[in-house]
Amino acid sequence: MEKYDVIIVGSGPAGLGAAFHLLEKNSSLKIMMLEKEKVSTGGLRNDCKMNFTFPIGFPLENWDREQAEHYLKLVVHKLKPDILGKKNLTTYFKRAKNLGIELLDIKQTHLGTDGGLKLIKVLIAELQEAGVNIKLETEMTDIDSAEKTIITSRGEYGYSSLIIAPGRKGFRFLQSVMDRLSVQYIDHIVDIGIRIETKLENYPIVNDYYDPKFIFPDKVRTFCTNSGAAHVVREKYGTDSGKPYFSVNGHAFSGEKEPNGLVNFAMLKTVKFTEPLASGQEFAENLGLQAMLMGGGKPIMQRVGDFRLGKRSKAESFNDDLYNFQPTQQNCTPGDISLSIPAKILRGIWKSMKSLDTIIPGVLHPGTIMYYPEIKLYANKPDFLDSSFKAYDDIYFAGDGAGTSRGITAAWASGIRAAEGILD
Ligand SMILES: Cc1cc2nc3c(=O)[nH]c(=O)nc-3n(C[C@H](O)[C@H](O)[C@H](O)COP(=O)(O)OP(=O)(O)OC[C@H]3O[C@@H](n4cnc5c(N)ncnc54)[C@H](O)[C@@H]3O)c2cc1C
Repeated sequence: MEKYDVIIVGSGPAGLGAAFHLLEKNSSLKIMMLEKEKVSTGGLRNDCKMNFTFPIGFPLENWDREQAEHYLKLVVHKLKPDILGKKNLTTYFKRAKNLGIELLDIKQTHLGTDGGLKLIKVLIAELQEAGVNIKLETEMTDIDSAEKTIITSRGEYGYSSLIIAPGRKGFRFLQSVMDRLSVQYIDHIVDIGIRIETKLENYPIVNDYYDPKFIFPDKVRTFCTNSGAAHVVREKYGTDSGKPYFSVNGHAFSGEKEPNGLVNFAMLKTVKFTEPLASGQEFAENLGLQAMLMGGGKPIMQRVGDFRLGKRSKAESFNDDLYNFQPTQQNCTPGDISLSIPAKILRGIWKSMKSLDTIIPGVLHPGTIMYYPEIKLYANKPDFLDSSFKAYDDIYFAGDGAGTSRGITAAWASGIRAAEGILD
């Protein structure tokens, strides 16, 4: 059986951050990186906008400003981002403040989905050149912690140290590992929301600030704004019992592609369960299934004009006659999102959208489309043994799947923290 000093599971930013840091500090380490897909599947692969300002992407249970800023410097050192300029924002900041809403001033860069793929290829090639054994299309399925061995779809491998960074989609897999290792965890937080798609002229702030981050009362925020050649996409998920459901998402290509004149972004509300403590994952799955029921197996889309009149959207609502642009995600069912979204979540989001329309008049144009559901599952909260995200003897978790990050740069930073634990 092959044995490695360090095995890293997942080639997303958390896994990459760990690998580069380990190599930088000790180039003689024998490292293997496993990736179940042909190419990393997370945010580096999709849209790849990176935020370099605390607290974006950094869960406050695991990071304070000083820590995050320290690690962000290391991320910047490696990725050398071209930070996008911002301009003409004074009016937006003032209007937001008057309404008790915060508009964060974030350092950002955007590579686009095509640019992200190029970056992944460069980074993977660099690791291979440095001697890291990268095994694509190899899925970790189980672990034998007594033998310090992982079981994968292509055989068994021994480790001295292990970093598991399977991302959001690996949420359930990580839970199975934690159950196997008797690591305690809770997953009591989830983000639920809708994705807005509108014409650029209705949301012109993006000309001056690529991904504007508004924080509203009631734990609602804007998230993942895309413009240029921007598209709404569907991500497929499955419940434990194998039932499929979709979450919508958005991405954009780099500036090399022809812009389509549209913008999309999410409006998310964070839901946190206390008493009785429920699983965020199960709650989200139930909402996902409910949406599939209403949408005939597809996400639901509704024009703001119909929503305001209290009626469902129909196929005719998506004619250019009535409204002035076609949805970029056609594989959704015109319907009524208010039949599917819990009242408290919808109330918080709609109130925030009305505020947003006061700050940026036009975003609630009757033609604006609201897609539902957009679900963010990343709230595993393991009981870590130390500040390097060690969860068990010689086993570390990093990235979104373990709740240590919520974005590319923080995931990278969490990988560095796990690597530091190993090096110590
Ligand atoms: C469509 C989309 C767009 C996004 N856009 C952005 C964005 O623009 N900016 C931003 O900051 N964040 C974005 N995010 C969030 C971002 O993807 C994550 O915050 C970040 O990628 C988390 O990094 P990670 O390394 O934890 O996980 P991931 O990037 O998800 O990487 C985990 C990797 O592990 C692999 N894996 C999972 N399980 C196993 C297993 N058992 N065996 C082997 N391999 C496994 C997966 O295939 C995956 O490639 C986006 C997410 C999605 C889904």
